[in-house]
Amino acid sequence: MSRYLIDRYRPLVAYTPGEQPRDQQYVKLNTNESPYPPSPAVIAAATREAGRLELYSDPVCADLRDAIASLYNVKRANVYASNGSDDILNFAFMAFAGQGGRAYFPDISYGFYRVFGDLHGCDYHTIPLKDDFSIDPGDYRSLDGMVVIANPNAPTGLALSKAQIEDIVKSNPDHVVLIDEAYVDFGAESCVDLTAKYDNLLVCMTFSKSRSMAGARLGFAIASEGLIADLDKIRYSTNPYNVNRMTLACGAAAIGDNAWYMDNCRRIEATRAETAKRLEALGFAVVPSKANFLFARSDRIGGGALYQALKRRGVLVRHFTAERIADYNRITVGTPEQMDILIQKIAEILEA
Ligand code: PMP
Repeated sequence: MSRYLIDRYRPLVAYTPGEQPRDQQYVKLNTNESPYPPSPAVIAAATREAGRLELYSDPVCADLRDAIASLYNVKRANVYASNGSDDILNFAFMAFAGQGGRAYFPDISYGFYRVFGDLHGCDYHTIPLKDDFSIDPGDYRSLDGMVVIANPNAPTGLALSKAQIEDIVKSNPDHVVLIDEAYVDFGAESCVDLTAKYDNLLVCMTFSKSRSMAGARLGFAIASEGLIADLDKIRYSTNPYNVNRMTLACGAAAIGDNAWYMDNCRRIEATRAETAKRLEALGFAVVPSKANFLFARSDRIGGGALYQALKRRGVLVRHFTAERIADYNRITVGTPEQMDILIQKIAEILEA
């Protein structure tokens, strides 16, 4: 830290992203990327736009927003495009809960919520998950600030139903309810269509997981025109060209290939079910997941020790040190071949 940093940011504890190692080739199951590459149409779009990088990107993101709007049956004015969905979360905390505004989210959830809360001087409160890590929707009724819920939740993988989300949205008419659907395509119920009915509902999604574009940085939100206009005001006050032209073109191409990506999601769901069974056979307790990861613990080895032992054997998973979940590891669902290696290495570690 230099002596120039202003007081407000001095205590800020920044988010720690998952490791993106460059020292060796790992079986990489630590940041919930898709194990499948982008579709050929997406690669062609990137190549085409690479030759036009001398030009700024379209600040309106018109083609991409139109493609997303038609897939989700909304209008362009209901769609917001961003440089990864982290950007939407950042702007939402700034716009709807910054400078002393309130926000509520689960004690165990995506770690960035706290960081954005701190960054924007938000008075946020965490609500404990139940003992089985589920969210009690009753805890989120009639609150006095923005509600933020990842559905499915991370790192647990547990999901609320659309009816449960609607109950929360309906009971907080004076505050934004942000539903982070980063992992929704892996078998949970989306609440996007509720945005037509509730002007306080902001649904965030990402191309990073189900659409194999984590490296392109593309997120989007669907909400009432008013909320999208608010986010746009902040975007035009920071970086109007927030999505680069290669990514814009790739995103539209990926939406055009939606069936291809949804097939991959079904493949990942099948691998998830198979892997959960194999982990249970090795004595693990596995949280029932609707996401592209499994959250699991063993009585035979601690979470940190398993993470280390797997890493030494070339398999990278994610371990969190927060007390309630320190016994667990979050394991991204990869290809069946990657899962074979994972299971084989875990069996080896437990035997040793
Ligand atoms: N929300 C949740 C719950 C996540 O796990 C992630 C991925 N780390 C994000 C949002 C952000 O994803 P991205 O910025 O890649 O769209």
